[in-house]
Amino acid sequence: MGFFSIALDGPAGAGKSTVAKLLAKKLGYIYVDTGAMYRAMALHFIRNGIGENEFDAMEAACDTADVTITHKDGEQVVLLNGENVNGLIRTEEVSHMTSVSSVNKKVRLKMVELQRALAKQENVVMDGRDIGSYVLPDANVKVFLTASVEVRAKRRYDEQKAKGIDCSLSEIEENIRERDYRDSHREFAPLVQAEDAVFFDNSGMTIEENVDKLYEMCMEAQKR
Ligand code: C5P
Repeated sequence: MGFFSIALDGPAGAGKSTVAKLLAKKLGYIYVDTGAMYRAMALHFIRNGIGENEFDAMEAACDTADVTITHKDGEQVVLLNGENVNGLIRTEEVSHMTSVSSVNKKVRLKMVELQRALAKQENVVMDGRDIGSYVLPDANVKVFLTASVEVRAKRRYDEQKAKGIDCSLSEIEENIRERDYRDSHREFAPLVQAEDAVFFDNSGMTIEENVDKLYEMCMEAQKR
């Protein structure tokens, strides 16, 4: 039997990474945060002085970026040309560049290759936008996780505030709307709910409730 894979897709701020991390821990699987890979690539573009509309330059720069992931003490570590960039990829600047550059097909294909290779080596909980619909079409469990824009914006806002970062709720909400639009309207591998994915709105749910529900689904799927 091959390895077990859980595909968790959904828009920005739906709580995918929090839920995926806890679920992976509970299952004893590896958590793969695919957004972090696109973020590392975007950081590479920024460092090379590439502007958000310079797609040719991005494609060329793809060839000089080696993005890999490893795990240390249960945490995913993203390496960009061998450097641990975990602490550098969560800024608003990188978030914006990621959203813009991940539209590019060459960027996506490079990341997808790595993601598929990971799922061949381990049991994974993989979160992203196109995992169930494109990267792992044969995933054992597929979930489309979402929440209302307002709830997602408020979560991001609380998160930033807790870190002592000054921010505006309306600006965050606007950014989320923009990102949703770009993710869902790109030509290649857009954010869509896979036909066989379970739709899950966690607006009124705690993280624990959400994780428990998904854990049950995974246990059921393992019996099949
Ligand atoms: O999940 P996260 O917010 O870290 O992802 C950052 C950005 O990377 C998203 O806004 C999206 O544009 C892109 N992304 C993607 N496909 C994935 C994961 C992330 O296009 N599988």
